[in-house]
Amino acid sequence: MKSNALGNSPVRKRFDLLIRGGRVIDPSQDLDAVRDVGIAGGKIARIEANIPGDEALEVIEAGGKIVTPGLIDIHTHVFPYVGPYGIEPDPYCLHRGVTTVVDAGTSGAFSFPVFRKFIIERAATRIRALLHVVSIGMIAGGTPNMGELEDLRYCVPKIAIEEVNKNRDLIVGLKIRFSRGYTGPNDYEGMKRAREAADELRLPLMIHIGWAHTALPKLLELMKKGDVVTHSFNGRPNGIIDEDGKLLPEVIEARQRGVLFDVGHGAGSFSFDMMEKCLQQDFLPDTISSDLYSANIDGPVFDLVTTLSKFLMLGLSLRQVIERAAARAARVFDFGAEIGALRPGAEADVSVLELREGKFVFADSGGKTRTGRQKIEPVVTIRDGKAYYPTA
Ligand SMILES: [Zn+2]
Repeated sequence: MKSNALGNSPVRKRFDLLIRGGRVIDPSQDLDAVRDVGIAGGKIARIEANIPGDEALEVIEAGGKIVTPGLIDIHTHVFPYVGPYGIEPDPYCLHRGVTTVVDAGTSGAFSFPVFRKFIIERAATRIRALLHVVSIGMIAGGTPNMGELEDLRYCVPKIAIEEVNKNRDLIVGLKIRFSRGYTGPNDYEGMKRAREAADELRLPLMIHIGWAHTALPKLLELMKKGDVVTHSFNGRPNGIIDEDGKLLPEVIEARQRGVLFDVGHGAGSFSFDMMEKCLQQDFLPDTISSDLYSANIDGPVFDLVTTLSKFLMLGLSLRQVIERAAARAARVFDFGAEIGALRPGAEADVSVLELREGKFVFADSGGKTRTGRQKIEPVVTIRDGKAYYPTA
């Protein structure tokens, strides 16, 4: 450190930022206590009680607030200006508590270079991608357009594999959608090709389910440990429960061998009734994601924290919902210990949230409503040591 001629040292601050007095919840280390979080050099430096405010350049007072690892949303669509789905990542994610998102297959091999250069590399939100196995990605939306898997000529494992291998730093898995409007009768063949690509790449495969043409158990047969089913609780025919509301034995068996079941709320893929039937059978989602895209940002999804609030209303604890959008979400795509946890040395990704008490009406994708007593709201989000506030 430099001293001036009079021998006075400039005061050296130990932290760039101090988040003081919040209730820190980090399920990954069983932590739920009032703590101060010191950030230095873009990393979490210290978590302890009573760090003096004068040790930091900037202090965020978080008394009465909840402080969690920066939230991770493993199913979003953040590739805007191409096709019907994409939204701007920063206002809807980073400014609303989410520091890391996984884009679930908006881009295929033909569009990933554009997604990379013009969106991922420019966003402040950390974006990782699942490459759509179909090279045109989600550039159309099915009816009245051609669904992406209706013509199998666009589903060539070799093309997907080559694109992933050029972008291993950003692409963390593969995605494919199984709804009859997007596939026609081709879903099982698409599944086989997706399996081939995922095996070659040794990456997880996420499948979207929603009234698939092929019976779900047959598709699940080709799912392996670490693969993800999204829209698991969609309430449509050919889902994970039978007509009597009982979980299919093939679904229970898939979970036992390590297939993960994600929420992926979306505009058409989450049913309170269905979720309740599964919870009654002790079948909780492995991860809670929003499936945020253009048609649901003004409801029923709004953002990830609203989706998490719906699970508080359904009876999960605050710890259970945070865990499913932090450490568990980080593990799905092997983000390592750098994110999803508030440990010294981890990335300085932090969400400061408010747990409001009152009466809140929540809607599912079918327009059914339920009233909850708690709602999680974003207060400020820290990513790479910088603070982002809700824009609306
Ligand atoms: Zn989606």
